[in-house]
Amino acid sequence: MKIILLKQYGINAQEIRKLAGYENVNYLVKTSEARYIFKTYKFDEQLFDLVIAESEVLVHLSQANSNIYPRPIKTHDGVYVEVANIDGEKTIIRLLTFIDGGFLAESTHTPELFISFGEFLANMDLKLLNHKNYAIQSREFEWDLQNVHLNKPFVKDIAEPENQKIVAYYLLQFEEIVRPKLPNLRKSVIHNDANDWNVLVAEGKVTGIIDFGDIVYTSLINELAVGITYAIMGKKDPVFWATYILKAYHKLLPLTSEELDLLYYLIAAQLCISVCNSAHNKKLNPENEYISISEKPAWALLDKWLEINPIKASNEFRTACRLPEHVVENVDTKINKRQQYIDPIVSLSYKNPINMYRAAFQYMYDGYGNTFLDAYNNIPHVGHSHPRVVEAGQRQMAILNTNTRYVYDVLNKYAERILSKFPSNLNKVYFVNSGSAASDLAIRLARHHTQCQNIMVMEHGYHGHTITAIDISDYKFNNKRGPGQKPYILKTPIPDMYWGKYTNENAGANYARDAADQMAEFGEQIAAFISEPVVGCGGQVPLAPNYLKILYPAIRAQGGVCISDEVQTGFGRLGTHFWGYEVQDVVPDIVILGKPMGNGHPIGAVVTTQAIADSFGQGVEFFSSFGGNPVSCAIGLAVLNVLEDEGLQQNALDVGYHYKNLMHELSKDFSCIGDIRGSGLFLGFEIIDEEGKQNTALASLIKNELRNRHILMSTDGPYDNVLKSKPPLCFTKKNAETVVENIQEILKDK
Ligand code: PMP
Repeated sequence: MKIILLKQYGINAQEIRKLAGYENVNYLVKTSEARYIFKTYKFDEQLFDLVIAESEVLVHLSQANSNIYPRPIKTHDGVYVEVANIDGEKTIIRLLTFIDGGFLAESTHTPELFISFGEFLANMDLKLLNHKNYAIQSREFEWDLQNVHLNKPFVKDIAEPENQKIVAYYLLQFEEIVRPKLPNLRKSVIHNDANDWNVLVAEGKVTGIIDFGDIVYTSLINELAVGITYAIMGKKDPVFWATYILKAYHKLLPLTSEELDLLYYLIAAQLCISVCNSAHNKKLNPENEYISISEKPAWALLDKWLEINPIKASNEFRTACRLPEHVVENVDTKINKRQQYIDPIVSLSYKNPINMYRAAFQYMYDGYGNTFLDAYNNIPHVGHSHPRVVEAGQRQMAILNTNTRYVYDVLNKYAERILSKFPSNLNKVYFVNSGSAASDLAIRLARHHTQCQNIMVMEHGYHGHTITAIDISDYKFNNKRGPGQKPYILKTPIPDMYWGKYTNENAGANYARDAADQMAEFGEQIAAFISEPVVGCGGQVPLAPNYLKILYPAIRAQGGVCISDEVQTGFGRLGTHFWGYEVQDVVPDIVILGKPMGNGHPIGAVVTTQAIADSFGQGVEFFSSFGGNPVSCAIGLAVLNVLEDEGLQQNALDVGYHYKNLMHELSKDFSCIGDIRGSGLFLGFEIIDEEGKQNTALASLIKNELRNRHILMSTDGPYDNVLKSKPPLCFTKKNAETVVENIQEILKDK
């Protein structure tokens, strides 16, 4: 190497030190007068053209300012880039001047420094705006944000599925939100790697930049997206810090609202490229530490980014550039419009209803820039907008969606998968589109099989909104505006160990015996007994232990079947078990599924035995236009895959345990927190008054105050005094802490 340096550049190197690098090998060369960077690359024809192009850019940039950008040095042959033989390898070589300065990564971050960074990037980009180079323009590079999709194959190299999903989410958002806008954005040659180890600082200001190896021709705004991404890592308020850079850049090189609106997603995409490449390179070179230098802070920023409403970010970016914020119609105007078409009987949550606009996993974003922590919604079971579920639906929708009268593999596949979650005697499934339709069908099956109409239901039970579902839902028929109890319905008390008649360890057995006595008194055969394993509308009341174990045989003995409504409790939500009935160590004859099954896509199902299916098969055919359509099946399969891959049942158990413990701690200071019950992430917190009675007003106050603090929860129970929490199963311990801390503050202030 010494000889090459002398022969080609006339440089007498006194010291040659290898530097840590990403893809090529760089050396710091010292002579008695100066320092240089000697860059070597394994020969590749395309790379050769690119390195020449990069040198041309550097010559163009450094004409006037020789100490801001590295200056290429010509060889004795009069070229900036040469091919040499190093250790028997054909190698591309070039020499650059050394630029002095500390790194942005190691400097104290101040507003002044960030402002100077913005100015620096703008000045550089102004010089590059009209630079044309075909080698750069034809570059297809995974670090170019417009080619972020090239990183997709690396997602699987990310070790943790819960991290993979964040990257997949932002990659998908990029395709949906950014990609369609790319043709409108102005393009330029940009440095594309203003990361904090490439940006040089002296006396609190950015003074130089090195490493033009990632140079591309792409959307101009990407320059800022990259620079900002690394600069704001580790910041408590990253969006705020970003605005210093933006504001300064905008003054010299004005940005458009469209560019600023995409910045949130571009920064997310840059983080994705970074973590994908770290994961991929870690797999290829486990020993190279340089590769993953920004990995941890990048993940931390991605986590934080999810908590930021994209509208909030874009409004702050716009304000920094003195551009008008997004104009969003007032929520009351929207409600008025809604009520022109939708009767208020279709109710809205909260005193101040929320105008939702997007959601990601356990976060929901309103139209005004607020982020809500979702501690309530169980339908987005594996998380709002989970990319694997969304993609499964999109893909299948583009391939085939049809009614169930044709043969298609995804139905067989899903039916097999869903039935594999049940004991072998539950071996037939009927697909429908909602929990209500499933309840309705379950009752039809039971009546066909038993040739009897009577149904025993549970106090406070809820099974849906069809006529039959209302008939069997005490919560509906017994409502003061409800239709009342039908003569063929027998209602049995909820086996509640907190408010109920029996509270000791024999409660379940006593309640079950009472129910059996009630049946005997009724005097007619019961076709079916239907209940939820934890009665949601009853106020998240788990059935007293052994209740079903004793009652089910009594139902069967008189010729009836047992139905478990798993719409709320199924799919691992309870943590300890996949299905709620398993908690009671029983196997029902019919199981009703819904809500979480499609993560928000409307799919429900009834699972039953061969014998019941045979009876039903004697009747009129069963047909549902949409039940079990290919898209629903593909989505249902994706939900099961995510549940398994992300270990969400276990997460529900761990987080639920932590959540309950935190509430128990809180209840020591606040006697208004009565019973804390439920399991996994299906919890109820009983709010009581000083006399130990249901405190509806306080529960409502907590719920609405939480809403004002951007936390979603609900109330339920016959007195509407039970705080109900049943979040997406990706809810974290930290999320639970946030909820409990806020309840504590609300109770302190009340
Ligand atoms: N069963 C239970 C236990 C439910 O909670 C619900 C919905 N809240 C239903 C059935 C009805 O489901 P859907 O709203 O999908 O018709």
